[in-house]
Amino acid sequence: MNVQQAKFQDSFADKAGENFIPDRSSFPERVAAVVAAAASEAEEVDRDARFPQKAIDAARAHRLLGIQVPQNFGGDGASIFDITDMCYALGRACSSTAMIFAMHQTKVACLVRHGVGSAYHEGLMRRLASEQLLLASSTTEGQNGGNIRFSSAAVERAGTEISLVRNATVISYGAQADGIVTIARRANDAAGSDQVLLAITKDDYTLERSLEWETLGMRGTCSAGFELKFKGSSEQIFPEGYDRIHAQTMTPVAHLCWSSAWAGIAAAAVERAQAFIRKAARGAGGQMPPGAAHFNAARMTLSKLRAVITTNLDTYAAHEHDERALSSLDFQSSINLLKVEASELAVETVMSAMRACGLAGYRNDGGFSVGRLLRDVLSSPIMINNDRILSNIATASLMSAVPGTLRD
Ligand SMILES: Cc1cc2nc3c(=O)[nH]c(=O)nc-3n(C[C@H](O)[C@H](O)[C@H](O)COP(=O)(O)OP(=O)(O)OC[C@H]3O[C@@H](n4cnc5c(N)ncnc54)[C@H](O)[C@@H]3O)c2cc1C
Repeated sequence: MNVQQAKFQDSFADKAGENFIPDRSSFPERVAAVVAAAASEAEEVDRDARFPQKAIDAARAHRLLGIQVPQNFGGDGASIFDITDMCYALGRACSSTAMIFAMHQTKVACLVRHGVGSAYHEGLMRRLASEQLLLASSTTEGQNGGNIRFSSAAVERAGTEISLVRNATVISYGAQADGIVTIARRANDAAGSDQVLLAITKDDYTLERSLEWETLGMRGTCSAGFELKFKGSSEQIFPEGYDRIHAQTMTPVAHLCWSSAWAGIAAAAVERAQAFIRKAARGAGGQMPPGAAHFNAARMTLSKLRAVITTNLDTYAAHEHDERALSSLDFQSSINLLKVEASELAVETVMSAMRACGLAGYRNDGGFSVGRLLRDVLSSPIMINNDRILSNIATASLMSAVPGTLRD
């Protein structure tokens, strides 16, 4: 356990004692209200490529944006299990809302796990809970693609004042966010891999649009390119280096939350396929339509998808404050493979659901259309490209042992 994590545990113990249990009883009702808001505008959000304002307003009203913040900083202390369940529930209603929520919660997790002990970051956690701030993410830069462990833009320092100018190729909901969590090179003379993480709020930065996209899916995430210009204080840099935050929190939480959102999209497609097959069977006097086989295939891949997510969730939750376990080859390989497997299974599930529905699934209108879900889920293998991940972990995979038992 490192110093930050020890402080984090102490601060919990101060407030609530060893047996601290966050009150989760209000979560289902609050989540259901946000899911209903998200579902009510999902079609328009996609058609007009607009931000899901109603859903995010509802998330604010029901205090879901700060739900992960510990209770002693004003939040609910929601666990990784709670957060991923929320991503899944939102994914069934509106993919873009789910992905925005997943990205936001990943940034909050960095604050919660690596900001304790830093006055600035603790203050930001309190603001997150009281003002329900929405945080965006800026990792992609210039022509660097998904190579997150390399930064070009460097933090410029003048005493305690710092500044950063970043060619942010894509920031989802950048224009709507109240703050951004971004990586940068530690200093002008630092190597590209010597990175820090900064949490900045919109009074400290400007965003100038540099690149518009007309996207295939996830259109409500309003992902565009920006030039990010920031001026602030050195205390906005997280005390720990980005390499550790990346391994312990950014990668695991992003992969768990994204995968849960994709599983939600896949579940929505399976639900449509089920409704279609039931209707077709009723219309044929109980005779199963030929597409039923594709419906079963969709159900099978959805089961695999849920299993791979929950297995990784259990492993992460069991070791979430154990730096050594999280840095191990086994854990890092597994959590990276989760992203690859979950995205492939989610695409496969939605494709099978579409084939089960046939023409009714292929058309863009009607109650059985799977078009939007398919376009949205196709973002999953390229969001940090699976090829890049597989090639990055090839050596680690070779070195990690093949499991000796079923539950290893
Ligand atoms: C919906 C959506 C929302 C996003 N939101 C954000 C956001 O809010 N903030 C943010 O910073 N970024 C965001 N991104 C960007 C994302 O995080 C990745 O950086 C981006 O998807 C990578 O883009 P790329 O395909 O150009 O890059 P690359 O990773 O460079 O991939 C380009 C091509 O090169 C291939 N390739 C790359 N490396 C290898 C390798 N080692 N071996 C074999 N082939 C390789 C890939 O297969 C691919 O064909 C978002 C992306 C999506 C799809």
